Amino acid sequence: MQAYIKAIEPVNVDWTKNVCLKIFFAGCDFKCPFCNTPHLLETREEFLIDLRDVKKEIDLNSGFAEAVIFTGGEPCLQRPQLIELAKQCREKKIKIGIETNGSKPEVLHSLLKENLLDFIALDIKTPFNEELFERLTKSRTFFITTNQVIQNLKATIELLIENKDKLEIEIRTTIIPSLLYRKEDILEIANIVNQLNARWVFQKFDNMAELASKNLQSINPPSLSFLEDIKEACIKQYPQLRIEIK
Ligand code: SF4
Repeated sequence: MQAYIKAIEPVNVDWTKNVCLKIFFAGCDFKCPFCNTPHLLETREEFLIDLRDVKKEIDLNSGFAEAVIFTGGEPCLQRPQLIELAKQCREKKIKIGIETNGSKPEVLHSLLKENLLDFIALDIKTPFNEELFERLTKSRTFFITTNQVIQNLKATIELLIENKDKLEIEIRTTIIPSLLYRKEDILEIANIVNQLNARWVFQKFDNMAELASKNLQSINPPSLSFLEDIKEACIKQYPQLRIEIK
């Protein structure tokens, strides 16, 4: 079996004490203009790799890597490859993490059913508001309606609520002036995160990064005091939230 995988790299993450191996799947079903991995959005032939080579790489690193994190792009778009690699990690007693946009609840369900997931980092990019969702993900250009995409994301969140005691969960939201910055919108997301036993990371929009849309490069990043204000407003309403600014 082959997979579209752009890179395999050792990284340090907050989730584990020791080094992890990140496997970067190519291809994504979202088209977020603020995406800072635009080189991973397409499945190009040059990214095709034999899964046996990826498994060898996991084997080689199994002595020191505490975990493997599947990321992208969107790793859930390559379901059989993802599941096969996750099974190999379980056999080698390596922890399994995934970074996902939440669009494929059925794939996450399969991983959870087979006990193939220890950590999930889920992007909640906007509240469940179709207009905002379309602006932040370009979902109007997708094969399915924005409403269907939102229903899938809701199903993913339900799945995480059901499994919140078994999983380490991190929710990520990028705060972007003029796109996602209004207190009322972020409070709506806070209401969702409050149902999960999760760490919530406010990612500071970085206009110096390589972005999918060059137009966004003219937007300044939010100030730290602005982010602190929003954090305070969320904690005032939902005191149990664990929020970090990055
Ligand atoms: S930010 Fe994530 S979900 Fe959005 S296009 Fe980039 S990889 Fe896909």
